[in-house]
Amino acid sequence: MTIRGSILKISDFMPTEEKCLEHLRETRWPNGIICPICGSTETKRNGTESGKQRYYCYGHDGTFRDTTGTIFCGSKIPINRWYYFIFHYQRNIPAKRLMEVLEINYKTALRMARKAQESVKGSCEEIKLKDVVEFDELYLRCGEKGKLNLNRPPRKRGLKLRGRGTMDDDKPPIIGACDRNGNLRLKVSEHADSNSICSFLVIMAVISDMMKVFMDDFTAYRFLDKTWIPHESVNHSAGGYARGKVHNNTTLKFPKELLWL
Ligand SMILES: [Zn+2]
Repeated sequence: MTIRGSILKISDFMPTEEKCLEHLRETRWPNGIICPICGSTETKRNGTESGKQRYYCYGHDGTFRDTTGTIFCGSKIPINRWYYFIFHYQRNIPAKRLMEVLEINYKTALRMARKAQESVKGSCEEIKLKDVVEFDELYLRCGEKGKLNLNRPPRKRGLKLRGRGTMDDDKPPIIGACDRNGNLRLKVSEHADSNSICSFLVIMAVISDMMKVFMDDFTAYRFLDKTWIPHESVNHSAGGYARGKVHNNTTLKFPKELLWL
């Protein structure tokens, strides 16, 4: 089974523009915002422009946006449609076919294709998940980290908790995806609901070479049944943790070690 060659109807799935911008920010600036014009880290949020975040940079005394310096900059095509285009184009769906689905003209589709080709030569290739990708979530108690006047005994390890949590109750979910070669991507999420997992998974599908998803039977993954993504689950609640090669035990192992670095 493969997702190569299949095309997804826009009505079936499309991450929101905001989710795509969030993904772009996390990919470009994992350690804080850096001005793409002068490289300064002295920046601040500076209102919005057509509903999109704008930043002011003290370094060059000017503004920039999330898409400044990327292939999405200056394009009239919304970023989520770009993601859709790139996802399918990288999977050998011809630009001509995508132009029909996205209702854009051929010239635009070709321009997007050229930019997409240029962009894959860049950073995304570094951590690329391949083939079978396992998904899982875990919940980490953040406690009072970062607060001043901390009046509590030193933290012990082992704050990793099973059981669902949210950002609000101090137990933010971390959604993880890793392949069988140990390549890993993590995302701290506000909720481990279908929407969050779904957005993460689709964006992972855009930037990786994912052929099949393995996950547990958490209900938030049930949306997968309605998508083009080949998937199989193991039934944790019925006591099963692996069924031959079908398991998501690799993800459980990785986040625990990495998060405490
Ligand atoms: Zn600057």
